[in-house]
Amino acid sequence: ANFKATSQFATHLEGGGAASARSEFTKKNSIAEQRKLLPVFGVRDALLQVIRENVVIVVVGETGSGKTTQLTQYLYEDGYASGSHMIGCTQPRRVAAVSVAKRVSEEMGVQLGKEVGYSIRFEDMTDSSETRIKYMTDGILLRETLKDPTLDKYRVVIMDEAHERSLNTDVLFGIMKRVLRSRLDFKLIVTSATMNADKFSQFFANVPIFHIPGRTFPVDTLYSRTPCEDYVDAAVKQALNIHLGSPPGDILIFLTGREEIECCCFQLQERLERVAKASAEAAATSAADPKSAVSSVPPLLVLPMYSQLPSDLQAKIFQPAPKGSRKCIVATNVAETSLTVDGIYYVIDTGYQKYKVYSAKMGMDSLQVYPSSQAAANQRSGRAGRTGPGTCYRLYTEHAFFHEMLESTVPEIQRTNLAQVVLLLKSLDVDNLLEFDFMDSPPQDILVSSMFNLWVLGALDCSGTLTSLGVALSEFPLDPPLAKLLVTSVEMGCSLEVLTIVSMLSVPQVFFRPSDRQEESDAAREKFYVPESDHLTLLHTYMTWKNNGCSSSWCDKHFIHGKGMQKAREVRAQLLEIMRQQKQQIRSVSGEDWDVIRRCICKSYHQHASRQKGVGEYVHVSTGAQAHLHPTSALYGLGYSPDYVVYHEVVMTSKEYMNHVTAVEPAWLAEFAPLFFTIKTEGMTRAVIRAKEAEIQEFMESEMARKGRKKGGGIVG
Ligand code: ADP
Ligand code: MG
Repeated sequence: ANFKATSQFATHLEGGGAASARSEFTKKNSIAEQRKLLPVFGVRDALLQVIRENVVIVVVGETGSGKTTQLTQYLYEDGYASGSHMIGCTQPRRVAAVSVAKRVSEEMGVQLGKEVGYSIRFEDMTDSSETRIKYMTDGILLRETLKDPTLDKYRVVIMDEAHERSLNTDVLFGIMKRVLRSRLDFKLIVTSATMNADKFSQFFANVPIFHIPGRTFPVDTLYSRTPCEDYVDAAVKQALNIHLGSPPGDILIFLTGREEIECCCFQLQERLERVAKASAEAAATSAADPKSAVSSVPPLLVLPMYSQLPSDLQAKIFQPAPKGSRKCIVATNVAETSLTVDGIYYVIDTGYQKYKVYSAKMGMDSLQVYPSSQAAANQRSGRAGRTGPGTCYRLYTEHAFFHEMLESTVPEIQRTNLAQVVLLLKSLDVDNLLEFDFMDSPPQDILVSSMFNLWVLGALDCSGTLTSLGVALSEFPLDPPLAKLLVTSVEMGCSLEVLTIVSMLSVPQVFFRPSDRQEESDAAREKFYVPESDHLTLLHTYMTWKNNGCSSSWCDKHFIHGKGMQKAREVRAQLLEIMRQQKQQIRSVSGEDWDVIRRCICKSYHQHASRQKGVGEYVHVSTGAQAHLHPTSALYGLGYSPDYVVYHEVVMTSKEYMNHVTAVEPAWLAEFAPLFFTIKTEGMTRAVIRAKEAEIQEFMESEMARKGRKKGGGIVG
C-alpha cells in the first residue's frame, strides 16, 4: 500500500507540471515519506469515500494530524480541482494561511502562487488560471461572496479551524447555507480540533462527523503552587530549568503578543549566556588545563513566533534543532492549533492570551490580555504529547484553572464590534440581521451599537437601510471609517494624499526603535514630524521615502522598516485600483495645502473628536472617556496640545492612549457634523464644541434602539 501511494504521488506531481521534479527528487521523496506518517494518511480512502457520499461533513482530528496540509491534496488527487474549479481552504489567521500554503506547495513540488496559492488581505499569491488549491483567510472568502454570492469558482471549500470561532468564520457559516441551497455541485468540509464538532454538525442538520484517529502521548500537567506575578519572568526561569535539567526535547512557550515574546527571547538569551559563562569559568578553575575547559551548557535555539514576524523568521520554527542543541519556540496562541511543530516535549503555558473585546465605554474594540480558557489550556498542553510523552508547566494554580478560567473562549461574534459585518451582510441583502442564521447570535446591544456607528458614518440611513455611501464603503477591505476617509477625499480633492495615509495606517508601524538605540531612533523619527498631525507625519514620511528613491539604505539610516514601506506602497496601489473601478475623480491637493487633508480627516473621524482636558490629556466629546496622546505622537513629541483632536484608534496599555491623532478646529466639527455638534463661544475667544447628546439620545431611542431591539424591527429588519 505504501508503495502504491508513493507512485501515485509521483505521477501526480508530474501531472501537476513540476518542472524541476527530477533534481528535487530526493527532497520530495522524504517529504512523501513524512506525508505517509501523518494520522490522516491511514484513513485517506475512508475519508474520501465519506466526502464523495455527502455534501457537508465535519472532520475532527487532533492538531497535527494532517487536516490542513493533507485534506486539500487528497481532494486534488481525487479530482475535485478538475476543469477550472478550485479547492478553497479558509484560515482564521493570516500567518497560518501563508505558512500552510508554502508547506503544501513544497509537498506538491510546485511553485507557490501557481497550483497552490494563498490570499490574505492586500496580498494575493494566486494565479487566476493556474491555482487549484487556494488557502486564504476567512475574511477573504467572506469578501468574495460580495462579488460571487454562490462561490462558483470553488468546487469544495474547507472551513478550517472552525473551533476557533473567529468572527468571519462564524458569518461564513450562515453564508454557506445559502451557497449550499443554490449549488448542487458544491461540497463543504468543516474541520475542527477536538472541540465543538457536534455543534457544527447540528448547524448543518446533523451532517456526518469523521474522526481522524488520534495518535497522542500522555502529557504530565504540573500547576504552579502559587499565582505568579510576572509570567514572562516565570516562563524564562522555567525554560532555563528545563534546558539545564531535563532530557532532550524542544520547548514551546505561550505568551500573548509581540512585545512579551521579544522580551522573553531577549531575557532567555541573556540569562543563558550568563549561566554558560559561569559554567565555563567553573570548568576552567577545576580543569587541569583551563584552556581546554568548555561550558557544559548545551546551546539553546530561541525562536519567536507571532503574526507580524517576517516570514523567513517564521519558517525557522519548523527546522529541526542541530544535533546536541535544543529549540525553544516562544509563540502566541498561533501555535495552539493553527501551526504544529514536531518534536515539542515541554510546554510552558502562561495562561493568558490577547483578544479583541468591544468596549461600550469607548464605542470600539480594544485588544487586551485576558486569562485563556480551559479548552485553550488543554490544547496548549496537548502540544507536548505529539512525539512522545511530554510535560506541560502551567504557570497558574490548579484553583485558577478550575475557578477563574472560562470553559471555552467566548466566540468573537459575541464580543467584538460588528460594523464591518453589518455592512457586509447588508450589502448581501441580508436585511434582517436578527434573522440571519448565526450559529450563536451576537448580543443585541453590540449589534445596535455597531449599527449606530454606521449610521453616524452615514453608511446606514435612519431606517437601517444601506445608503449609497454605505455601498461605496463596503467595496473597500477596510474598517468603515478608513473607507470613509477615502470616499471623503474624493469630494475634498485630496485622494492621492489620503490614499497614502490610509495605506500607512493599514501596515504595521514603520518606525522602529531598537532598545539599544532608542535616543538615536527617536531623533530620526522627529525629523518627519508634522506638528499638528500624526496622519500628516505618515504622509510626510512616505513622500520623503519616495523622493529618496524608495531606497532601503535610506530606510536603515532613518530607522524605518523598508519592508513596511514597500507593503504600504502595494496596499496603496490596490486601494487606488478600487477607486479607479468606482470611477472616482482622484486628485491631489494644490500646492502644500495640507489643511484640506486635516479637514478631510475631521469629516471622516468626527465620531472620535476629543477635547483637551490637561496637557496631553483628552476626553471624548460625547462619551467623556479619557485618553492620552501617545508618547510616539508628533504632537506629544513637539509638546503641542491643541484644544480639539480626532484620533484613529485608542489602544490600552498602561493607560488609554490615542493612536494617530490630528488637530482639528471646532468650527470644522460643527460644519461637518451638525447633527452631533454645536459650537458655543466661551468668553471672547474660545470656541467650544458641545455634543448634542439630547439629539443623539432621542434618535437612538426613537429609531435605532427601538427597532433594533425589537425582533424583526426596521433597523435590523
Ligand atoms: P492539522 O491541520 O491537523 O493540525 P497540519 O496539516 O497543519 O495538521 O500538520 C501536519 C504536519 O505537517 C505536522 O506534523 C506539521 O509539523 C507539518 N507541517 C506543517 N507546516 C509545516 C511547515 N511549514 N514546515 C514543516 N512541517 C510542517
Ligand atoms: Mg490545521
